Amino acid sequence: MIETSATTPITSKSRSTQLSLAYEVAMPHPESHLFVVTLQVQGWTESTLDLKMPVWTPGSYLVREYARHVENFGAVGKAGEIGEITLAWQKVAKNHWLVETPGQIPVITISYTVFANELTVRTNHLEASHGYFNGAAMFFYIPDRTPSINHQSTNQLTNQPLKQPIQISIVPPEPDWIVTTPLKPLANQAFTYIAEDFDTLVDSPFEIGTHSLYEFTTAGIPHTLAIWGSGNAEPEKIIKDTQKIIEVESQIFGGLPYDYYVFILHLTANSFGGLEHKNASCLIYPRFGFRSGEKYQRFMQLVAHEFFHLWNIKRIRPQALEVFDYEQENYTSSLWFSEGTTSYYDLVIPLRAGIYKAKTFLENLSKEITRLQATPGRLVQSATASSFDAWIKLYRREAHSDNSQVSYYLKGELISLLLDLLIRLRHNHQRSLDDVLRLLWQRFGQPESGFSPPELKGTIEEVAGIDLTDFWQRYIDGVEELPFGEYLAHFGLQLGANSDSALPFLGMTVKTEGNRDMIKTVEIGSPAQIAGIDPGDELLAIDGIRVSAEQLKDRLKDYQAGDILKISLFHGDLLRTILLTLDPPRPDRYQLLPVDNPQATQAENFQRWLGVSLESIK
Ligand SMILES: [Zn+2]
Repeated sequence: MIETSATTPITSKSRSTQLSLAYEVAMPHPESHLFVVTLQVQGWTESTLDLKMPVWTPGSYLVREYARHVENFGAVGKAGEIGEITLAWQKVAKNHWLVETPGQIPVITISYTVFANELTVRTNHLEASHGYFNGAAMFFYIPDRTPSINHQSTNQLTNQPLKQPIQISIVPPEPDWIVTTPLKPLANQAFTYIAEDFDTLVDSPFEIGTHSLYEFTTAGIPHTLAIWGSGNAEPEKIIKDTQKIIEVESQIFGGLPYDYYVFILHLTANSFGGLEHKNASCLIYPRFGFRSGEKYQRFMQLVAHEFFHLWNIKRIRPQALEVFDYEQENYTSSLWFSEGTTSYYDLVIPLRAGIYKAKTFLENLSKEITRLQATPGRLVQSATASSFDAWIKLYRREAHSDNSQVSYYLKGELISLLLDLLIRLRHNHQRSLDDVLRLLWQRFGQPESGFSPPELKGTIEEVAGIDLTDFWQRYIDGVEELPFGEYLAHFGLQLGANSDSALPFLGMTVKTEGNRDMIKTVEIGSPAQIAGIDPGDELLAIDGIRVSAEQLKDRLKDYQAGDILKISLFHGDLLRTILLTLDPPRPDRYQLLPVDNPQATQAENFQRWLGVSLESIK
């Protein structure tokens, strides 16, 4: 039995100042989905070398166990006259390799392969057409050691990577493949880059292949757009609108805090997503999602969202994310702000940038309110609880999720709307949520010192000029309904609740899979749930007559609230017939509309919030 390295005595020699770390990433057979990685460690003087692979990557709060894709691990040392020697090693934890490095071995070479066949912004993907990787899913870090305080020679491993520059060389498989990354290239060495430390390496995605490259300058700073995949994207239009977004966001924070920025865009059949970095965004979007105005605007919202993160969460960080612990969950109750406020701004920024009009902004906002009000879990889980449990809930959705949880993106977005309105009203539009962001930037972002939840609340209160304890208890730490109507009335808007008056409420969703109609979700407290219908049941008939998912709505319209319905279904392989009583119709769409006969102050508030007249959105 082997002790884990955390308890294994280590000779406490001082580490050589000559230590250097260099990775090489090759992909000789891209179609095999295997990256071939070597790490060369020079100047290592300890008798063991610990190597750990992160279990998650910042920006995506789920333990993904990246080490499960590591294969073919090996370690050799080069030691002068004796030449190359194989170094003994063992795994001591799921993501932890321990290499024996007795004596002073001038050059240690670690080699391994990484299977990369998961195309998302937060994982690795290698195939004949390109390679894409995230540092957390690709590279080992060497944990730092704290010198022992008890004068014994036992230095404990910390959860922090050794602070040490890392060189990365890419070996493309074909002469026409190129490399795009926000990292600084090393002069005179093709495809070789320097990351100042492991955090920077993790924060610097790589796109390798024959992707299209578009360079542009905004505010005197160079930017690159790299597009992999074909479709109907129009790069010139995207760049023009992206530049407007950059300018609007730069105005909020007072300048751009980087000297180079990269947008990596993957075009695929129907994936959607983004991952933020300090100096890059990775975006994935449907390849034919650019022609229609609505889809194109959705894409520009995604650009605005990920770009906004370069301030809000990449530099203005919750304290719990100030120093990343790559080995385990990093708990914070503030994602409702880091993600939710960013989501509010991804609605606001395209409006300010002229990409869509106020009417579209209000339609988008109405859809978000509809989504929240259609989530029963909003009355169960608070925004702070949702943030804290991101690791076990948001990224692990199941049929019951909507009954028990709320997205911190969505709830945080709509809380941010209320905070923006509240601050504008109290200060007659001399202040807004923009001022909160600016103050957070100066106080916690520029120094990268991290904010605690009380500091976040305190900063918002400082700008708002009032004690927000009650607001916090009700809407952020609590689960009270958000008071949209009350707040928006000051801005000349009312929230209309629409329902199909002919459609009694049953409370379940059904989807056709193959030739079977499967119940996907059942709303808590609904007639369907009370009657004992389960997600996974197969819908067969209503009152003895076959019904499909497609026909269900129309069939229900033949009934009224209070009617008793006989539903037949398969529960597993058991045939069941259930009687239930239908409820009255429920709102399924909310819509923000101008109030009738707005007062002058309402019209003025609207104009100063959205920059157009209330009249213009009628
Ligand atoms: Zn985000």
